[in-house]
Amino acid sequence: LVVLEDVDKHFGDLHVLQHVNLTVAKGEVVVVLGPSGSGKSTLCRVINRLETIGSGSITIDGERLPEEGRALANLRADVGMVFQSFNLFAHKTVLENVTLGPIKVRKVPAAQARERGLELLTRVGVESQADKYPAQLSGGQQQRVAIARALAMDPKVILFDEPTSALDPEMVNEVLDVMVGLAKGGMTMVVVTHEMGFARKAANRVVFMADGKIVEEGGPESFFTSPRTERAQDFLSKIL
Ligand code: ATP
Ligand code: MG
Repeated sequence: LVVLEDVDKHFGDLHVLQHVNLTVAKGEVVVVLGPSGSGKSTLCRVINRLETIGSGSITIDGERLPEEGRALANLRADVGMVFQSFNLFAHKTVLENVTLGPIKVRKVPAAQARERGLELLTRVGVESQADKYPAQLSGGQQQRVAIARALAMDPKVILFDEPTSALDPEMVNEVLDVMVGLAKGGMTMVVVTHEMGFARKAANRVVFMADGKIVEEGGPESFFTSPRTERAQDFLSKIL
């Protein structure tokens, strides 16, 4: 569904993505981990073209990502994104946060978007907060709204960039539980996270990045118990 072929990107002299090849099949959950600065966020950002690439190609469901314009807006709507810092619209209610994209981009009638929005808020367990503003919610609730907002666009894939790392520990699981539910429900997901519990429960594959390269990949169990490369062994010894 998502295919990166020989993707290269530089920030000035920094070779932030080096010959990255990655294929994510429909319904697959790929967890990306690696040290700070290894290029994980950049990888997510090039997949939905928040960043351009230097060379290589990225296709989503068979369509090559264009450089700009209308086609890009459409393709981007197919790729949901959930960030570490929630990024909700502060001056919109929770429900409006979830309905805005479908109404504006997908041209869904307002009443229908509202009904679906409430359904999604129920699914992530924050339906009682629908008329509040993001600042009135806990971090865990805000992040669940962000997930509902991504789902509202009916994306083909959702990218998560450290969705729980800004949360207080007691809120991490309420967000991870929603993500595990999505994974079990067949959503295609690319998840940057160091939450091993999530990886073990939900990941089909773990991809380990270092210095802009995919250094190692494999099933979660074998990766965590017997990483093959020294880089991965070293990394795991620090986070476990
Ligand atoms: P972390 O675990 O800290 O989130 P990461 O693996 O997500 O790290 P990236 O954010 O992808 O890493 O950054 C990779 C490298 O690219 C870092 O050295 C970073 O400083 C650099 N970088 C990221 N964005 C930019 C930018 N817009 N301009 C210049 N350099 C950048
Ligand atoms: Mg990052």
